[in-house]
Amino acid sequence: MLRQNLFGMSIHALKMGQAIDHLRRCVRETPYDCRYVVTPNVDHTVLLQTHRGLRDAYSQADLVLADGHPLVWVSRILGRPLPERVAGSDLVPSLFQAIPANEKLRIFLLGAAPGVAERAAQNIARQWPHIQTVGVDSPPLGFERNPAENARIIDKIGHAKPDVLIVGLGAPKQECWIHQHRSQILAKTALCVGATIDFLAGEKTRAPRWMQRVGLEWFYRMCSEPKRLMRRYAKDAWIFPQLVWRQWREQRMSANHPSR
Ligand code: UDP
Repeated sequence: MLRQNLFGMSIHALKMGQAIDHLRRCVRETPYDCRYVVTPNVDHTVLLQTHRGLRDAYSQADLVLADGHPLVWVSRILGRPLPERVAGSDLVPSLFQAIPANEKLRIFLLGAAPGVAERAAQNIARQWPHIQTVGVDSPPLGFERNPAENARIIDKIGHAKPDVLIVGLGAPKQECWIHQHRSQILAKTALCVGATIDFLAGEKTRAPRWMQRVGLEWFYRMCSEPKRLMRRYAKDAWIFPQLVWRQWREQRMSANHPSR
């Protein structure tokens, strides 16, 4: 699989359909060794420059898929093109949709506020009856620092043995948690997909399609959670162009001095 090195990440140059094919192969053929998928956007890219744990988690991921339009646009400017945006929140419903009705897919929903994952499971059962939610858990705040909580969750997943563990704990917690505990997690593959459980439950709404298409989903999210996201996006808007400039300069220098 072709990968593009961008901003310290090695991103798979895959379209949505190819990513789904890969996941379906994983579910059919691999043992319960908890491979995992991460979906970088501009915010992850900025965070990863200074967050060692997130960088390590990214380096061991089975799939790294570009969640944000800006990453795709910039990949083309830098001559390391990614074919399209593969957002985590689209990946999950597209995977469910791709499973034929005579096949089963066992999923576990980890994350979101209490009660939300249960509602997501009900909606999933209504829309995709052959997708079987075999467990849900909404860990309490700070669980990741509590060994007993971690053991409880890992045990619960181990009893359910899902094909796909859907992890919605926000970044960088979800990536770091999976990376740290993967050797004990009995799931075939884990998808680190942020607010996807909220979207499946109808707890949060996604931006209208046209906004997603033109790359304005971030704006819609910022308007719906300004307190949480305004500062974050302002920082990203300041740092991301600097990362693009730095990578562009480095690429030019190594093109001019190939032996360096
Ligand atoms: N979340 C959680 N436990 C935590 C922190 C966050 O379950 O300790 C959930 C939160 O309820 C929400 C999701 O993680 O469902 C956050 O998703 P989002 O994509 O907004 O996170 P981001 O990566 O943008 O911070």
